[in-house]
Amino acid sequence: MRQADAHRSPDPAPEYRRPADWPEVDLVDTDVHITPPSIEALFPYLPQRWRDYVRESGVRSLESDLYPPGSPLSAIPGSVPAHGGPPGSDPDLLRTQLLDPWGTTVAVTNCVYGVDGIHNPDWAVAMARAVNDWQRAEWLCEPRLRGSIVVAGQDPERAAAEVERLGGLDEFVQVLMPVRSRTPLGQRHYWPIYEAAERHGLALGVHAGGAGGNPMSPVGSPSYYLEEYVLLAQAFQAQLISLVSEGVLVRFPELRVVLIEGGFSWLPPLMWRFDKNWKGLRREIPWVDRLPSEIIRESVRFTAQPLDAPADARRLLQVVEQLGSDRMLLFSTDYPHRQFDDPACSAPHGLAGDALVGFLGRNALDVYRLDEE
Ligand code: ZN
Repeated sequence: MRQADAHRSPDPAPEYRRPADWPEVDLVDTDVHITPPSIEALFPYLPQRWRDYVRESGVRSLESDLYPPGSPLSAIPGSVPAHGGPPGSDPDLLRTQLLDPWGTTVAVTNCVYGVDGIHNPDWAVAMARAVNDWQRAEWLCEPRLRGSIVVAGQDPERAAAEVERLGGLDEFVQVLMPVRSRTPLGQRHYWPIYEAAERHGLALGVHAGGAGGNPMSPVGSPSYYLEEYVLLAQAFQAQLISLVSEGVLVRFPELRVVLIEGGFSWLPPLMWRFDKNWKGLRREIPWVDRLPSEIIRESVRFTAQPLDAPADARRLLQVVEQLGSDRMLLFSTDYPHRQFDDPACSAPHGLAGDALVGFLGRNALDVYRLDEE
């Protein structure tokens, strides 16, 4: 089966645009996926040594298989470029299918490209650099797009150097790491990355997926993709607990962490449990000098797609109120992946006033410092 056929959905293109009853305010889409049309598309940005290595090794792609081709979650209809290639690989299609009909002010792009799964650290560093230079040359010239710096987390020192190389450019607003990392993201060997990100005013984006090599669940490997997808929330919870407990968010107070595509409906009870146990065990981590929930509200943000809305959608608003802050949720579509049939379901039902304005764009403009440009 050709790659384009594998991704193709037989459905007609649905109505996929900004809902008419949303206020005319800035709309910032905090999770838009872009991917190289082929591994050869990265060759102009790779040194000759690594071009030869890819050819001689027979590597065909590092594209994420987070969404199995043909799965209903994979991609919205019509997102496969007419000339072939995977969804999210054509800048013109992104403009006509997403940015124009949604009236997007800014979209933050995430290229989830499997660099973290490479065991050869030199190759991983070269691929991360190539992906970043490819993004910059071929996508980020679109003024509505801002990019995320892909890093090889398996080599934190050189990952930090990559953040240094690109962090001063306006095109990039975030450092991107996968939620399924080799070790918990709070641990100190990662801190050079966070130091560089904070210095350049970049957020740390942690996105669903990753090939860190650990089982998908704390009790071993599950049997089904459904289990894996639901279990992603546990990985986000583990990373959040690590980032707070290790003191990252105290040590780097200007750093903002954005948890992308991991949901948020689990957060209020996690904060309750975290606060309660911190009170009893805080001597173990004396650098965490205030309630974990306070630190989370200050420093962590959550993209809202996919929305874990119950059958009675009004109940989700109760969860939003339990967060205790209007600043934590960020609008996202997760384009080109399909998580909702009706665009109205891309915002918590009943959100209104300042909370809605913050959700649609204001919160993201703050966290990505887009008003300062
Ligand atoms: Zn996503």
